[in-house]
Amino acid sequence: SAADPAAGRAVKADDRAHVFHSWSAQGLIDPVAIAGAEGSYFWDYDGNRYLDFSSQLVNTNIGHQHPKVVAAIQEQAAKLCTIAPGFAVDVRSEAARLIAERTPGDLDKIFFTNGGAEAVENAVRMARLHTGRAKVLSAYRSYHGATAAAINLTGDPRRWPSDTASAGVVHFWGPFLYRSAFHADSEQQECERALAHLEQTIAFEGPQSIAAIVLETVPGTAGIMVPPAGYLAGVREICDRHGIVFILDEVMAGFGRTGHWFAADHFGVTPDLLTFAKGVNSGYVPLGGVAISAEIAATFDQRPYPGGLTYSGHPLACASAVATLNAMAEERIVENAADLGERVISPALREIAERHPSVGEVRGLGVFWALDLVKNKETREPLVPYNASGAANAPMAEFAAACKRGGLWPFVNMNRTHVVPACTITEAEAKEGLTALDEALTAADAHTG
Ligand code: PLP
Repeated sequence: SAADPAAGRAVKADDRAHVFHSWSAQGLIDPVAIAGAEGSYFWDYDGNRYLDFSSQLVNTNIGHQHPKVVAAIQEQAAKLCTIAPGFAVDVRSEAARLIAERTPGDLDKIFFTNGGAEAVENAVRMARLHTGRAKVLSAYRSYHGATAAAINLTGDPRRWPSDTASAGVVHFWGPFLYRSAFHADSEQQECERALAHLEQTIAFEGPQSIAAIVLETVPGTAGIMVPPAGYLAGVREICDRHGIVFILDEVMAGFGRTGHWFAADHFGVTPDLLTFAKGVNSGYVPLGGVAISAEIAATFDQRPYPGGLTYSGHPLACASAVATLNAMAEERIVENAADLGERVISPALREIAERHPSVGEVRGLGVFWALDLVKNKETREPLVPYNASGAANAPMAEFAAACKRGGLWPFVNMNRTHVVPACTITEAEAKEGLTALDEALTAADAHTG
């Protein structure tokens, strides 16, 4: 569509006057005004089009404005916009069935929320009520959302200002060989030591006081660390031995991102509770939820579940989930993510890493990849320090600006850039983005030595 800078300025003026933005110092931000989006691209009012290598916040797995999902929302809006959660409704029933058919094992009941953080809140509540225990364990390298329990479970620095309410949350180190907390030098050693560390944490916290262990199946925002073979199975076994509920957070990794419906499918592990959001309907209407095992669901057969939301199972959200899941199956979108990841993205990123002194490690699967940027490949010193801001973060800011100048919208977190395009991305689009990324990395290389 034609550029319209005046319209963009008006949007921006109202935004700056009245919109209070997430995670930001309100006086220091300069949001890009967006005019539209389609497929793998979005564009502003000034005529700049960006290839979306971020999938926004890693949620538009089906791309922007998928026509089948847009039509389903329009049809549902004409039919029934909203209804209280206590009723049975066709689209809610169907969405729950389609999700339950895809989740692993006996996770056959779905509690719907408006997003990921509420899913985590409710999963933790279920685990505490099911076990009668209070404590919850989670990983330092994690993100679980920004509501009370979810932000406390989160490991990254966004937790710090809210830590006063962290009653009952204990953090531990998950496996991450490239920056091993255990001085390991093989994946197998990392796996064994990470499991031993978790065992010891549980022993010293008191197994009888621990309700749940919450893990992202593949940690996302914290760096896309694919766990070593055997780690999640080991956590499952530890949970079983101590009567601890195993919660896998698949808010980011679920619904095709890793090249399977769920990341847990790569590891043959079934948690007791699985949280989801984002890719379930690509965020076209806010939706998240918890998939619940038969055993935990049975806890609330005769006893009321003390949790609920006005918009739990909202018809517009559920209609968009039904259309999304059906389109993903019909168009083999999960298969596309797996194929492009393995055949195009992985080899291209490994080749890029060889040529750029700033790329310390490439890791991931499907359309879920991280480049760990470093000052020096030998020392692995991160390109910017943990939680850097302002001038200290300049190398990453310069890299991100170079991406945008090249028409690529990157996902950037600390010293990493994540290659997380839509699961629908074509081979030609992926190559276009990888070329732009390759060029932009010279801005990061300038800070190595
Ligand atoms: N869990 C994980 C793994 C996430 O990546 C996120 C969001 O990025 C959340 C939970 C929180 O989801 P929401 O922002 O929808 O509350």
